[in-house]
Order: sequence, then structure tokens, then C-alpha cells
Amino acid sequence: MKVYIEAYGCAANQGDASIAEGILLEKGHEVVDSMENADVLILFTCIVIEKTEQRMIHKLRVFGETKKKVIVAGCMASALPEKVKEVLPDAALLPPRAIHRVSNLIEALGGEGDAEFGYYDKAMLPIRTGLKVNIPISDGCLYNCSYCITKRARGNLTSYSENGIARMAEHAIKNGCREVRLTSQDTAAYGMDSGSSLFSLVERICSIEGDFRIRIGMMHPLSLQKRMDEILDIFFKEKVYKFIHLPLQSGSDDILKKMRRGYTLDEFKEIVKELRNKISDVTFATDVIVAFPSESEEQFEETCNAVNELKPDVINITRFSPRPYTDANKMKRIDTKTAKERSRKMSEIASRITLKNNRKCIGKNYNALIIEKQGEWMVGKTENYKSVFLKDGNIKNFYRVKITDATETHLVGTVE
Ligand code: SF4
Repeated sequence: MKVYIEAYGCAANQGDASIAEGILLEKGHEVVDSMENADVLILFTCIVIEKTEQRMIHKLRVFGETKKKVIVAGCMASALPEKVKEVLPDAALLPPRAIHRVSNLIEALGGEGDAEFGYYDKAMLPIRTGLKVNIPISDGCLYNCSYCITKRARGNLTSYSENGIARMAEHAIKNGCREVRLTSQDTAAYGMDSGSSLFSLVERICSIEGDFRIRIGMMHPLSLQKRMDEILDIFFKEKVYKFIHLPLQSGSDDILKKMRRGYTLDEFKEIVKELRNKISDVTFATDVIVAFPSESEEQFEETCNAVNELKPDVINITRFSPRPYTDANKMKRIDTKTAKERSRKMSEIASRITLKNNRKCIGKNYNALIIEKQGEWMVGKTENYKSVFLKDGNIKNFYRVKITDATETHLVGTVE
């Protein structure tokens, strides 16, 4: 069969799409790059916010108009199947934990409807690799944040086998991969359900021969806190980017309580202080939600103050979006005008901070891995995962670079 795959959303969802492609290629199917040439269409959906869900619904309609067999994967397949069926009653559902059944679904064209699923070690599946590979190391998490639909889509923490993940990484590196991205809803919790740990997993991958870098995906502050020393030790390994993504979400303890995040601002600040003390030049990325239900002007100011104090290098801003089946969905919303105003204000703060942080890198030297081309620029990643735009260099190679300028989103440099 000729299969067309389109994937949206986070690295974990992109990783699932790469696994689906790996399975299909192994089973002798062909993955094509246009809907016209395909027999079957697969959409890896993301529904993290309302706007993205609307975009997925539009995509479903476009897929439906082709009159071809459509398989809907990703978080919408498991969290909002009824919405998929509303738009495309004949679409087959392939939830994130049933990825191993993608070929069965295709071979049962017109027969079997949706993929049932139980535990399956995703890490034992084939994966399509490339210069970068997203490897899902677990699905689900240990928490239950009141605004989060991912919990409904991905469930409780299930870590995949260390052997399988190391095998996937080795296969990718042997086939030219230079950037291994370990991804999940909470990488710090890896192995807390299976007796393994992120430390032993990364140690294992670092022992693989070759020049490559490892990017560790998002962590929940409480999981990091539980295994602080061993997880921070990971970032001393030369192959690991000194990059930590730790969502704060709000600077107000009352709002953090309503979000059910499980930590206070002071606890969060303590964690950041410790990781910055221990890992010099670490890039700290965070997420904040503005206009969470009942957020007062003062509480919003608390978040602004927290961001100004913490000075993260990357600040992902989300305007609160009510998600079905979540408790926050029942809470009284902040009006759109205020929400937009808070989002605009937070973006201003973020731009100022990230520009200032990046300008501190001017004059410094880094070892950059060139990972892509953007227009006339070669784009590298420094050892602390900052993007550096260069005029010279080749993809896949490491270069000693000197930083000559900076913007709020990236550095500019020269190859030495
Ligand atoms: S930690 Fe919270 S936000 Fe993250 S996936 Fe779990 S419930 Fe959702």
C-alpha cells in the first residue's frame, strides 16, 4: 500500500509517526509524500489547545474529501474519538498506545474499525530515522493537572524498555542520526514505574560509538526533584545537550494549586537555582499559561515577576484554552480581551529576557552541530542547545564557532 503520513504536535507525537513509518516500511508498504499518490492517509493529531483541535478538524475534512481510507492517530484518537467520528465516521482510530497495530489496520482496509490496545513495548518497534530522531521513552505521566487533555490521551506513566530504546538509538546513529531526542510527557519520571531511570538510560545511549548529541525532553518539576542529583549528573556527559525544559505554568501559588501542579513557586525557584548552580551555561526553557480561570491581575503580575526573576532562556507562552473532560474546562473563563492583553504583555517580557540572555553569549566559543539549513543560513546547535546561524559549514558536522551577534530567538556566529 502507498501511505501518506502527516504529523502534528509535540516530539512524542512526531516520534510515534516515525515508529508508524518504520513499521510500514518493514512490512513492505511505501510511504509517499503526497495525498494524491497514496492509497491510505494517516493523520497524527494534536489537541493540546482548542485552536489546534480546530485545525485537526479542518485537516480531517480535507482528508475525508479524498474519499481514501483515513487513519486518525495521535491524541485525538484516544482523547476525543467521538469528535473524529463526527467528522469522519469511517475513519479508523489508532491511539498512541496502539501504534504497533498500524499495519494491521491498513491490511484490514474496510474491515476492522479501530485499533484496540493494551501494553506494548513501543521501544521494540522499528523506527524511521534521519538526521534527528524523536524516540518516545514513555507514555503518560504521574500527575493530573486540571487543564491537561494529554492526560486523558496518554494516561498514566508507562516507561518503555531501556534495551529497546538503546537499540532504537543505536540503529538511528548507525544510519547517520546526529541528534537523538528522548521524548515523553515527563522524561524525569522515566523508569519510576519499571525500576529503571533516566540516568541509566542516558548512560547506556552515551556508550554508543559515534558523534551525536542527545536532547532530553520536557520534565515535570516534581519528578526532577525526586531524582535531582542523578538527573543533573546526566548533563555532565559530553553527548548530552545542556538544556532543561521545565514548565512553571504560573508564578502564583493559588493558581498552581488550581492547576494541580503540585509545587509552589519557591520550590520551583529552588530547583532552578540548583540546576543552574550545578550545570554552568545550562539553557533553561519553561512554559507559562496566562489567563488561567480566576487568574486576577495581581496573580498575573506574580507570574510576570517570576519570569523576570528566573530569566529563562526559552519561554513558551500559552493563553489558557479550555479542554474537554478537564476540570479547568468547568471553571469560569477570563474574558478574551484580558487574556489577549496578558499574552501580549508576557510576550514582551519574554522577548526582552531572551534577547538579553542571548546577547551574553556574544564573544563566546561553542562546539556547534549543524543540524539544518534555513534559507542562506546553516543552523547549528551549541552544546547548550542554542540555535546559532552560520554562513559556513555542512550539515551533520561539528564546528568550533564564535558568537558575533544575537537575537531573541537565536545566536549568530562564525566558524573558527
Ligand atoms: S504532567 Fe500535567 S500537563 Fe503534563 S501530561 Fe501530565 S497531566 Fe498533562
